[in-house]
Amino acid sequence: APTLLWLRRDLRLSDNAALCGAIAAGGPVIPVFIHDDSVATLGAAARWRLGLSLADLGARLRAMGSRLILRRGAAEQVLETLIEETGAGAVHWTRLYEPQAIVRDKRIKTRLKELDVHAESHAGHVLFEPWTVETKSGGFYRVYSPMWRAVKDREVPDALPAPGKIPAPESWPQSDALEAWQLGQAMQRGAEVCAAHQTVGEEAAQGRLGWFMGQAVEDYKDARDRPAVRGTSGLSENLTYGEISARQCWHAGQRAMARGAAGAEHWLKELVWREFATHLMYHTPHILTDCWREEWDNFPWSEDAGHPHVTAWKQGRTGVPFVDAAMRQMYVTGTMHNRARMIVASYLTKHLMVHWRVGQAWFDDCLTDWDAASNAMGWQWTAGSGPDAAPYFRIFNPVTQLDKFDPEHAYPRAWIAEGQRRPPETALSYFEAIPKSWGLSPDDAYPAQIVDLSEGRERALAAYQARES
Ligand code: FAD
Repeated sequence: APTLLWLRRDLRLSDNAALCGAIAAGGPVIPVFIHDDSVATLGAAARWRLGLSLADLGARLRAMGSRLILRRGAAEQVLETLIEETGAGAVHWTRLYEPQAIVRDKRIKTRLKELDVHAESHAGHVLFEPWTVETKSGGFYRVYSPMWRAVKDREVPDALPAPGKIPAPESWPQSDALEAWQLGQAMQRGAEVCAAHQTVGEEAAQGRLGWFMGQAVEDYKDARDRPAVRGTSGLSENLTYGEISARQCWHAGQRAMARGAAGAEHWLKELVWREFATHLMYHTPHILTDCWREEWDNFPWSEDAGHPHVTAWKQGRTGVPFVDAAMRQMYVTGTMHNRARMIVASYLTKHLMVHWRVGQAWFDDCLTDWDAASNAMGWQWTAGSGPDAAPYFRIFNPVTQLDKFDPEHAYPRAWIAEGQRRPPETALSYFEAIPKSWGLSPDDAYPAQIVDLSEGRERALAAYQARES
């Protein structure tokens, strides 16, 4: 009987334990992707980017005589229908850790058992299963550094090679056309502008890893903080859709460390931040929606997403160059430099006194590397309400931060056209990407600061002190 390979966020052929498991079952393998709620609720950019990944994987599977079957509906029903249509005797998939995914997958496992269909989930999205990393007293890690120390010397099994062949069924079940799903529909912005900044698919991801390990890793420790420099791997986009595995990244980092590459250990540490975020989401799923530390629930943040300050922040028109450059970079490219993410998040939650949830929601919609756990942790870390967070009273000054990490101010020049006699293409592309309804033009005057930085800072500190007393 055929085996269904239910692909979700593991859109790759190499190091895919679920794919290997499906092949090992011995019969034909039918790879399937289901457009269910987990896709329907994705933000605009993430959904669009998912479509690019599916197109790439579909083409790769076809080139090796296989296919990617696309179906729409509740995963449970779609799988049952496919089992009926194909007579499949087993379903394999890679585990996910979002609370909704866990509930859905458990339900599906039970249902498949009732149908006498073998159901098998595999590890692969993270390096370490969340229940395998425990503190000495038995709980999960709430602080990053001890978690790093606990996992850094762990044995990580070798990555699995891509199969040479995927056995095909005699006849294929019907598949939706990817275009019919219109995954890019919610992208208000010019998708062509954003497309130029994506590195899509497994081969491209491997190329990126190769480039990083061949060059950039040496300077990573310093360069990673410089927003105008291409000093990081850029792999978050690929890790999000599973176009590359964390294990492939880990081993590449270990090899670089073994040959003495200066930044390699630091890079491995960043991969473990991703683990930390996923583990926290698994053990404390409220991190996605509520202040991780309850005592922050009453902080007087505004949740008015329609406030003109919030609009100015989203549109990169706060009058603070570091913030505005970063917000425009995200809108155009779908990603934002890590230091810039911390700066814009701090500015929103402190200088503007707006709830981190408002910022998180905008990131959900704009990021092509969107990851529920890393995004929530990043926001709560910056806002001060999260685990192992930066203290609220440590308020980034976006002016001195720019001088420190981008002394030439190349980052704002790259992204802010207003006021430049000959703005670069990146800065102009922002105006091609934004909806006309925003009514913005590169000929506008660059706005004055919407909030005076020292007044904003004082107001935030006063609110913090009032809460303390
Ligand atoms: P590199 O520096 O090359 O690091 C390698 C990998 O390590 C990354 O690809 C990523 O998977 C992981 N990593 C690095 N830093 C972090 C971190 N701080 N937290 C978790 N994982 C990390 N990352 C996402 O992948 N998706 C998000 O939605 C996301 N939202 C964020 C929101 C805020 C407010 C903040 C402060 C951070 C957020 N991050 C998010 C983390 C981080 O900014 C990105 O992972 C990083 O910028 C990706 O660039 P890179 O791939 O070049 O990273």
